[in-house]
Amino acid sequence: MIRRRICGILSAVLAVMILGGCGGSTAGSPKTRYQATLMDLFDTVTTITGYAASEEEFRETVGKIQSEMTEYDHLYDIYTPYPDMVNLCTVNSRPGETLTVDERIIDLLLFAREIDEKSGHRVNAMLGSVLSLWHEAREAGIADPANARIPEAEALQEAAAHAGFQYLEIDAERRTVRLTDEKARLDVGALAKGYAAQRIAEGLPEGMLVNFGGNVVATGAKPDGSSWVIGVQDPDGGGEGYLKKIALQTGSVVTSGDYQRYYVAEGKTWHHIIDPETLMPGTRWRGVTVACADSGIGDALSTSLFLMDREEGEKLLAEFGAEAMWIAPDGTEFFSDGFRALIKD
Ligand code: ADP
Ligand code: MG
Repeated sequence: MIRRRICGILSAVLAVMILGGCGGSTAGSPKTRYQATLMDLFDTVTTITGYAASEEEFRETVGKIQSEMTEYDHLYDIYTPYPDMVNLCTVNSRPGETLTVDERIIDLLLFAREIDEKSGHRVNAMLGSVLSLWHEAREAGIADPANARIPEAEALQEAAAHAGFQYLEIDAERRTVRLTDEKARLDVGALAKGYAAQRIAEGLPEGMLVNFGGNVVATGAKPDGSSWVIGVQDPDGGGEGYLKKIALQTGSVVTSGDYQRYYVAEGKTWHHIIDPETLMPGTRWRGVTVACADSGIGDALSTSLFLMDREEGEKLLAEFGAEAMWIAPDGTEFFSDGFRALIKD
């Protein structure tokens, strides 16, 4: 995947931090705690923490995560083509053509279409024509800060005319897809990482915690029965401070925030979550953290809620059985009822 620069902040990839040190073997358990870090998958850092009987056993699990994540990363990459693979970059670069794709692409796109509908078209994976303008402006702005610009309003409007799932045909039976508009493009950045994380987590041993660049997934309690503790980052903490601690045994915690990926242009900061109504970065919230059983849904919902008012967000949460914490621009924190129960003091 094309390396989007780290925007001068490492916190970009650590929206949610795993707290707590690395211990040795736990009392009463022959298992030892291990940790590994994988770089560059989905343009982010993946941290794997777990207990295993031996280092070899742990390494095997890490290897499995790495190879599966690499496959998903390549399949869902919209920027880079890979030899002998039809991926989303291929789909984007060949509008009009009917392409046979991997089942994992069909599954992701069907999920993305469902989220587009359920989010009232706020999280729209067929907004690529617009998002690519922001992506290019951000890349150029980071490379050459003195000349950083935001996309022209007219160009954004023109691009928006080519957005929407009406321009994507998906034939699940034949496993084919086709962009029906010359300028329509996919961008699955809002949900692909979580979707892949969930598919991979389902095949992992119990008692692991994997942080896929801010998409945290837990596969069961630690061997001593205790929960994992996950910190919700302070938007102004520069990757250090956290606002709340969440106790989690099984499930996922995902954050979308305005402090994760951004650049500075024309004297202001511009982040990466674009409101389809204004075609500009959303300004309602600093961050939204979603806790739910499925990390794909968590990823899609955290981006959706970031672009909605709280009432609408609550409705979406109820539909998916998820919980959330919102951080308003003035720092006020809001919680769905069930989220409070997850907070550890
Ligand atoms: P992160 O990538 O940091 O985990 P998100 O899950 O919130 O953050 O997704 C942000 C990404 O989603 C953007 O980088 C972009 O690729 C894409 N995106 C931004 N706005 C929208 C939108 N309104 N609908 C669909 N995708 C979006
Ligand atoms: Mg998301």
